[in-house]
Amino acid sequence: MITVDELRGIRIFAPLPQEALEYLVGAVEDIHLVPGEYFAHEGDERALFVVVEGGAEITKVVNGEERVIGVRAPGRFFGEVPMTLSTPFPASGRAAEASRILKLDVTAFYTLAAMAPSIPARVAGLARRYLDSLQELAAEQPETDLRLIGPRLDAGTHQVATFLTRNQVAFERVTLDAAVAGETYPVLERADGSRFAAPSMREVAVAAGLDVEPSATDYDVVILGAGPAGLTAAVNGAAEGLRTVVIESLAPGGQAGTSTRIENYTGFPFGISGDELASRALKQAKRLGAEIVVTRTVEAIRPHGDRHEIVLDGGETLRAPVVIAATGVEWRTLPVPAVERFLGNGVYYGAARSDAAIAKGADVCIIGAGNSAGQAAIFFSRHARSVTMLVRGPSLEASMSRYLIDQIGANAGIRVETRREVVDLHGDRSLDAVDVVDRETGTVSGRDFAVVFVMIGADAVTGWLPHDIARDEHGFILTGADAAATAEWTADRRPFALETSTPGIFAVGDVRSGSVKRVAAGVGEGGMAIAFVHQYLALQRTEAPA
Ligand SMILES: Cc1cc2nc3c(=O)[nH]c(=O)nc-3n(C[C@H](O)[C@H](O)[C@H](O)COP(=O)(O)OP(=O)(O)OC[C@H]3O[C@@H](n4cnc5c(N)ncnc54)[C@H](O)[C@@H]3O)c2cc1C
Repeated sequence: MITVDELRGIRIFAPLPQEALEYLVGAVEDIHLVPGEYFAHEGDERALFVVVEGGAEITKVVNGEERVIGVRAPGRFFGEVPMTLSTPFPASGRAAEASRILKLDVTAFYTLAAMAPSIPARVAGLARRYLDSLQELAAEQPETDLRLIGPRLDAGTHQVATFLTRNQVAFERVTLDAAVAGETYPVLERADGSRFAAPSMREVAVAAGLDVEPSATDYDVVILGAGPAGLTAAVNGAAEGLRTVVIESLAPGGQAGTSTRIENYTGFPFGISGDELASRALKQAKRLGAEIVVTRTVEAIRPHGDRHEIVLDGGETLRAPVVIAATGVEWRTLPVPAVERFLGNGVYYGAARSDAAIAKGADVCIIGAGNSAGQAAIFFSRHARSVTMLVRGPSLEASMSRYLIDQIGANAGIRVETRREVVDLHGDRSLDAVDVVDRETGTVSGRDFAVVFVMIGADAVTGWLPHDIARDEHGFILTGADAAATAEWTADRRPFALETSTPGIFAVGDVRSGSVKRVAAGVGEGGMAIAFVHQYLALQRTEAPA
């Protein structure tokens, strides 16, 4: 937490009266960043950032390429233009080195402005200096014709914003301080005057111009799921000239899209957030010609001569000689009766970088002891008032990587409580408190947590697949030698390494039995699968009657 003395050392705050400095101590977010980590994204709602230590780079994506358009040394701001013009961020900000940056949200900024009118005047003066260069860049930017309107922290608005971001759709976000009586949120408006109140994700996708219908019936490869494994298969399939379509039940990115920082993916020395990785893969797959259909779920696969028929929700069908299942896993739900009532209103599964606003200033509780829970704890400690990890077992050691345990141990903002379990949730419209049992003594205590992130493992959801795609006792799909050993494999050849017990159907990534549950592993398998697809298609051609 920043102190009054430290604030006095920052040029813009130096002349402020003591009461304004004391107000700032409690109102600003004191964010510690590793090099390359973003503190603001183009399109985010307005805020003012002040560099305290280290340095920041201001970047903007122009014609698909990210350019550094400015730098900020200690004492300098970022956010003066959106603050002055009441617009979303026209560019992004990231740490150029290990940095400490203060964030003043709109409320903090205007409260401070009322105490010290010199502040908005100075910020507006600086904004004017940057407008000319930004205007030049803006001329190169595509216009957005989507406006998302909703109250701050509204669960539905947050969901739509996340969906649009994960699909790389530019939109203007209008955040209301309070809901207007009688209005249903979120509201999505298009420039052509159409307006959607509390739209479904399918409606949002249609309004945003995303593909929700496949453009054809016949493909070379149909890929189920657009997580890292599915997107990589799409990149490779399309690059090698196969007619490739990906069917994704929600938005591209999969679980990786809900990860705040992936540290172990090669080529990103300071880590990369899951949504950035997914966004790059999506761009690449589309550029190479893969079709990505979102908000559609594959509900069945049936034989169709020497091809497979893939049935989508609503009954529409596609046909292809090859299917790649990359459907990953789904978060395990918290076994507490009231949980459904608080979903999106205090209880969240997974933790994406865009969830920082939910955690801001809150006492955050994280349930779980895996790497994803550890990453989330470290990320939220930069935004929350406090972070408490509730762990069922006696320690983190059994389930978390050493580097995360060390980072958590060194972080005064994170408290780890072992042998604890959440047994009930309380609140009126949103979560206010949780009941926690001490598994050693059996004592139940009420705790004031309004924000709970649940990360207690995940399951493969494969019950809908046909019986002849053999699975292990936990529902993960068997491939290669494991598939060959089942009664379901009847062909007179050995299956390819990633082939299931049904010839021509492959499984990659987390949904595959025995897979290493990592981004790099999913990416590797997605790429490998396409090599097997070529071999399978060649085999089919040689077996076809002349
Ligand atoms: C919070 C968190 C942090 C993580 N951190 C790391 C890390 O630091 N390093 C690391 O290597 N790994 C990390 N992982 C694990 C990594 O994200 C996964 O291993 C990886 O995402 C698996 O990729 P996948 O493509 O196999 O499946 P997923 O990412 O699960 O994607 C599957 C996709 O399929 C879609 N789908 C499911 N069923 C259907 C259907 N019937 N029809 C259509 N679509 C369907 C889903 O909507 C989803 O988008 C993390 C995971 C989480 C959740």
